[in-house]
Amino acid sequence: MPLSAHLNTFAGNPLDRVSERRREPEWLADQLETEGTTVLAFWNGSALVQEGDGGPHLARIAPGLAVELAGGDERLLFMGLDEQGCAVFALDLEGGADPAEGLLRGRGRFANLRDLAPVLPASDCGMAASAKAVFEWRRRHRFCSACGQPTQVAEGGWKRLCPACKVEHFPRTDPVVIMLPVRDGRCLLGRQTSWAPGRFSALAGFMEPGESIEEACAREIKEESGLRTMAVRYHSSQPWPFPSNLMIGLIADVAPGEAQADQTELEAVRWLERAEVVKLLANEGDITLPPPRAIARQLSAFWGAAEPSG
Ligand SMILES: [Zn+2]
Repeated sequence: MPLSAHLNTFAGNPLDRVSERRREPEWLADQLETEGTTVLAFWNGSALVQEGDGGPHLARIAPGLAVELAGGDERLLFMGLDEQGCAVFALDLEGGADPAEGLLRGRGRFANLRDLAPVLPASDCGMAASAKAVFEWRRRHRFCSACGQPTQVAEGGWKRLCPACKVEHFPRTDPVVIMLPVRDGRCLLGRQTSWAPGRFSALAGFMEPGESIEEACAREIKEESGLRTMAVRYHSSQPWPFPSNLMIGLIADVAPGEAQADQTELEAVRWLERAEVVKLLANEGDITLPPPRAIARQLSAFWGAAEPSG
């Protein structure tokens, strides 16, 4: 059952994660031999998809084949139970040779999640985002960050243990604040040098240890535009599995003042009237917003459609 909150792309994984069962290795092993269990396949971060009548969807492979390809627990992730109570796993494949041209021939093609996001069903995007983020973490945490020894997979792929120093490692999620500064019926967008010509977006930055969401929002706005934040309103959040971010979408009321790009992170900032934002959302105007899969566009759409009060 989806929450009533605004659902961004990559949110909305429909599986029941039944996290308490991750600690039962025998139950997990049984699931891999139970009828109805299916496995999603990933290769170097790309998802195996098949073409259907309504467009591509995540391909499912049989658990027996997945176990054979995985060669042990290391590359398997227990994702949860679907609406029918059937287990869903994910398989992490690596290497230079495309498995869709080898052992998975005829079962689909591997595609990048950024490219898939606009065309994949929302529930598939959510599942793929979860699996990709955990697998990226797995690849980057094969060795214990405390003592340097190789780590071992545990709890269906959701934990890694160091057999030498006994430290437990968990998948990381790195929070990013992304916000639209607003004042007197206008909102501020910024532009990074590396972006495509004409692209403007919301301001954003990584949260730092010891910061609240509001403090990180105020700091980033100050750093990037010189403006002072007076109040912060939460809009929605978005898992962003490139590799493992959580985007926290905010609207920030800022104090009067001149906005100036810091010339480090941003090369330009621009105030826009509500009517201009509405035009940009209709792909009219001299600059462009990020695509619909990006929370920055959703923030702009929310503010653009709001009553003209702030
Ligand atoms: Zn260790």
